[in-house]
Amino acid sequence: MKVAVLAVQGAFIEHQKKLENLGVSCIELRKKDDLEENFDGLILPGGESTVQGKLLKELGMYPLLKEKIVCGMPVLATCAGLILLAEKLTNDQHVYFGTLPVKVKRNAYGRQLGSFHTEQEMKGIGKVPMTFIRAPYIEEVGDGVEILSSVKGKIVAVKCGVQYGMAFHPELDRDNRIHEMFLDTVRNSS
Ligand code: GLN
Repeated sequence: MKVAVLAVQGAFIEHQKKLENLGVSCIELRKKDDLEENFDGLILPGGESTVQGKLLKELGMYPLLKEKIVCGMPVLATCAGLILLAEKLTNDQHVYFGTLPVKVKRNAYGRQLGSFHTEQEMKGIGKVPMTFIRAPYIEEVGDGVEILSSVKGKIVAVKCGVQYGMAFHPELDRDNRIHEMFLDTVRNSS
């Protein structure tokens, strides 16, 4: 099993470290040619969604990656990654991959609450630590979307088929259970 981490901008190294700690081989996707390698799952990291979206198009990576997701590649999208996957954004005209039927609000917690840490129940796992950094949240979910966790009445984690969307940064905490949950999905679908 091999997992690819989008590595054009943002917190990709932390995801790679998680995968390495869990004994999973991973590759970095930095340019179009990297997409020729075989991989079984994809991680879209946090960072700045506008920058990542722009680079994906400029580097010519967007069409191939979208095709892989549409064809059923398991994806773990965190924070900016969730914004890239969302079908609709509340406060932004852009749609990037648009494969996850949710409506997402960018920078949703305002300036003061922009970054915070908490612990909350995640369906199927139990209480997990959650680090939010200028995070989005999910305002609406469409058909087939399972809500995995909510914080302060706002949806922060969902699953739709083999796509996971999380508003926070599971790669920044010691807990490995979210990555393990995703890796189980990758294992079962490859
Ligand atoms: N605020 C960022 C955005 O809108 C997301 C922040 C993050 O990934 N930590 O893209």
